[in-house]
Amino acid sequence: MKIVTTPDPRLRTKCKKVNHIDDEIRQIVDDMIKNSLEWEKKHEFEVSAALAAPQLGYDRRIIIVRDDMDNKENANFVPLLNPEVIKTEGKTLYDFEGCLSVPNYYGKVPRPAKARIKAQTIDGQEVRIKADGFLARTLLHEIDHLNGILFIDHIKGVKNAFFRLNDKGDLVPVDYDKEIANNKDLYPDDED
Ligand SMILES: [Zn+2]
Repeated sequence: MKIVTTPDPRLRTKCKKVNHIDDEIRQIVDDMIKNSLEWEKKHEFEVSAALAAPQLGYDRRIIIVRDDMDNKENANFVPLLNPEVIKTEGKTLYDFEGCLSVPNYYGKVPRPAKARIKAQTIDGQEVRIKADGFLARTLLHEIDHLNGILFIDHIKGVKNAFFRLNDKGDLVPVDYDKEIANNKDLYPDDED
């Protein structure tokens, strides 16, 4: 298991574009799928919905997104190369997000309701995706990773936005002032 977690600086870099789809790229995609499924086996209450290459330390603009995010039985992932947000639309919605690279914490994160995404498939075909709901949120979260942005950046300073899973699998609020405000794992560049 080699998921990169905060405060690793590799999560904070802007990743490089994929210009040629070769064995190296296919290898990265395979590794991403393998690690997502391995992580999930160890996390009873969670589904690994998607992953971005920098979460395994690869400095490439690659994400994988699960076919069916509510079903652990379905282990199919769709790789997307060089995904770009063309446009976001709709109301700002708040919903829970977790991240394999931010252990222990969940956040209630604001995102636009809809997003239009452009990307390439692993075969080099251009695809355009009109996403809403949890898929839009997931794609925006993963594309953020390629630009060195984490969900915690969107809720920095928001006192009631942080949660954790208890041993029953329920999300419970976290004391912001005690656990988050001066947490150098989450916000290593903050001044004291
Ligand atoms: Zn993430």
